[in-house]
Amino acid sequence: MFESQGTLKFYKDELLAARQGVGHFFTTRFGGVSGREGNLLNFSFSRETEEESFKVAENVRIAANYFGLDWKRFTAVRQVHGERIVRVTEEIAGARFGKPDLVIDADAMITDLPLTPLITTHGDCLPVYICYKDKAVGMVHSGWRGCAQNIGGKTAEAMCREFGALPEDLLCAIGPSICRKCFEIDAPVYEILKKEFPNEELYSYDPQRNKYFADLQGMVVLSLKSAGVRSCNISNAAPCTCCAENRGTFFSYRGEKGANEGLMGAAIWRV
Ligand SMILES: [Zn+2]
Repeated sequence: MFESQGTLKFYKDELLAARQGVGHFFTTRFGGVSGREGNLLNFSFSRETEEESFKVAENVRIAANYFGLDWKRFTAVRQVHGERIVRVTEEIAGARFGKPDLVIDADAMITDLPLTPLITTHGDCLPVYICYKDKAVGMVHSGWRGCAQNIGGKTAEAMCREFGALPEDLLCAIGPSICRKCFEIDAPVYEILKKEFPNEELYSYDPQRNKYFADLQGMVVLSLKSAGVRSCNISNAAPCTCCAENRGTFFSYRGEKGANEGLMGAAIWRV
């Protein structure tokens, strides 16, 4: 569901939004100070000019203010399409924001610290939100490489290990990301994914163009389920970032052929 105020617009997952003690959001293009017309909410922390990095910082402050959060507590990692999961302790909280020089290579974060939003950035790759009651949260960036490495399920397992959660206590939501109709791949990527997820239903094939299509959301659901998360506690209802009808709402790396003017931010925190 979308939530708007003025020019700001966020997407929230209904199942997660109903959970007490946890806040989350997924940004859209709208409400920031980036872009040619100075109205885009770019959340790309790492690949911009100095001028744009000031604007991105301002965009983060705009979102933080809207949710009543301290932007210096936002915590981000440098996403490397790997499988490393970082537990965010007080020493790490604020990495890239309150602690701008602290750069950690990873693709998932977990924490039990309150009011410490874990934020990942996305331009088609899957955001996976995980919460353990009102006690701990996790945020995952999963592109196809992350899916092939089961980073979703591994993060759920890490929350059980680190915080004493039972898998059935976890609530997970996959945020806006590229759908199976849009995620076109060549044979080598198909072969890598197929090794980890052999289920034929996750794929389709276009013989005329010799292209495959893969259901990354379906893979994350399977990954979470094999970590013990119940189906009824996995929300997978978010819109596609790449489908033509959604391009006005989201940045899309594929949809804009790498010329996207920004990335979206996905954040979760304990209140
Ligand atoms: Zn799509």
